[in-house]
Amino acid sequence: MIENVNGTAAVKGVLITTTSGPRIVLAKTVIDATGNGCIAAAAGAEMKYINANEIATQGHGLPPRNLGSSYTNTDYMYVDETDIEDVSQLFIYGKEKFPAAFDFGKLPDTRERPQIVGDFSFTVLDQVNKRTYDDTICQSKSNFDTHGYTVTPYMEIEHLHHDGHFCDMPYRSSLPQGLDKILVGGLATSCHRDAIPIIRMQPDLQNQGYALGCIAAKAAKENVPLRKLDIKPVQKHLVEIGNLPERVLTDKDNYEDSKAALPDAIKTLPDGFKGSAQLLWHPEEAKPLLQKAYQNASPENKIVYAMVLAGMNDPTGADAVLDKVKNFDAWDKGWNFRGMGQFSWASSELDRYIMMLGRTHDKRGVPVICKLLNDLKPEDDFSHHRACALALEWIGDKSAAKTVAEHLRKPGMSGYWQHDLTAAREQDKADPKGGTAEKSRRDSLAEIGFARALYHLGDYEGVGKKILENYSTDLRGYFSRHANEVLRR
Ligand SMILES: Cc1cc2nc3c(=O)[nH]c(=O)nc-3n(C[C@H](O)[C@H](O)[C@H](O)COP(=O)(O)OP(=O)(O)OC[C@H]3O[C@@H](n4cnc5c(N)ncnc54)[C@H](O)[C@@H]3O)c2cc1C
Repeated sequence: MIENVNGTAAVKGVLITTTSGPRIVLAKTVIDATGNGCIAAAAGAEMKYINANEIATQGHGLPPRNLGSSYTNTDYMYVDETDIEDVSQLFIYGKEKFPAAFDFGKLPDTRERPQIVGDFSFTVLDQVNKRTYDDTICQSKSNFDTHGYTVTPYMEIEHLHHDGHFCDMPYRSSLPQGLDKILVGGLATSCHRDAIPIIRMQPDLQNQGYALGCIAAKAAKENVPLRKLDIKPVQKHLVEIGNLPERVLTDKDNYEDSKAALPDAIKTLPDGFKGSAQLLWHPEEAKPLLQKAYQNASPENKIVYAMVLAGMNDPTGADAVLDKVKNFDAWDKGWNFRGMGQFSWASSELDRYIMMLGRTHDKRGVPVICKLLNDLKPEDDFSHHRACALALEWIGDKSAAKTVAEHLRKPGMSGYWQHDLTAAREQDKADPKGGTAEKSRRDSLAEIGFARALYHLGDYEGVGKKILENYSTDLRGYFSRHANEVLRR
């Protein structure tokens, strides 16, 4: 239920189902802890989810339960939990996958879900650069367990590997833009999808929920709109009970001040890209410094500045990146898609140069990448397929369309959509790592990635469109929603 308070939409209450039937509950503040922001979405909040850009999500599952077991962790699926057809098929698929299980989990186990667009959205660069805020309400910690691949350019330059990272979470990322009287927590918190691995741990999200509860109670008691509330007393309480370090009481946003470190970051860059996170964090200020450093650098050092510039979509260093790609006369060892236990690079060195070349949009890259693509076999490592598809899509030169279509026509490269459970079962049976469904997900991801690239390049003999149409009715909601978004755009 929404009411209009002085021109701002405000949530007035929610409809809940009880054992005696549906009931409307009026509330001074609603806390949406559904993990997918469905209350905020119903109230009209802008949401982020699968779109026409690249498919990238952490792997999901439905866990089997064996008697006596105390821990079960699954990652063998992508489930769009907002799609009831997809959820239904997960229950059938999961039960067939683990026929000996005593029982099953009752909820799709998703690590990534729809997110709100909040007053503030933090990124992986905020996390790596240890951004502080004056409205921190929670601190989370995890290693960078990505359950798949990331999309942030920074992680094509430097990687967090297995290290544990702390990050502060500000109150504003729980406030859906344009809505009052509602707070959103859990996995629907406003942040970039690559930032989720570090915030998703259960104890941290429980602490965030507690903080939001304290804020809602204070706002109700004082009858103050959420954005006008003084949250310092809540922070103080959270410090007193040991949830937050004392520094949050005096912390300020350190983003602006951190620009002073850019000249040092430029100097350390040749030392294994040390400082790249700071430079990428401040693209406008860093670009002129990087461009100058690139011009003055020795031939062997030019690439470090070129890569960071490319990560900002700046083409200044395209020559150096192109040379690096040309230096490879064959594919190196790639990364062949995994969900479980994925802690480091999801790409090879050559893949990273190719993707960065794509980010420069330099058309000279097209014949070089097409030559490598001609040599790529369907069964070759997934990261090579992903790098070629993305780079050609980003460069956007239509002359690549024929090569992409020919790649999709190679035997074994296409036809991995799943329109019914029979197709799902067959693909599952053919997967040597059935328990984690690496092959079946990889095959579909590689195929749809090229189909999207081809379609965006203007298509060739309808090859891209046909594949996307097939995926648009895939049982798996992630693929069908993505294909439909691409076709619609
Ligand atoms: C397979 C798997 C393994 C994991 N392993 C770990 C681990 O080892 N350690 C760790 O710390 N974290 C782990 N995580 C991460 C962690 O469990 C999640 O990130 C966290 O539980 C998400 O919290 P949340 O509050 O956003 O959502 P959830 O914990 O999913 O809570 C949302 C709740 O809202 C309810 N709900 C949803 N919609 C509605 C509605 N419309 N009406 C009423 N209720 C609704 C749901 O039933 C659910 O109870 C794992 C996650 C997965 C999927």
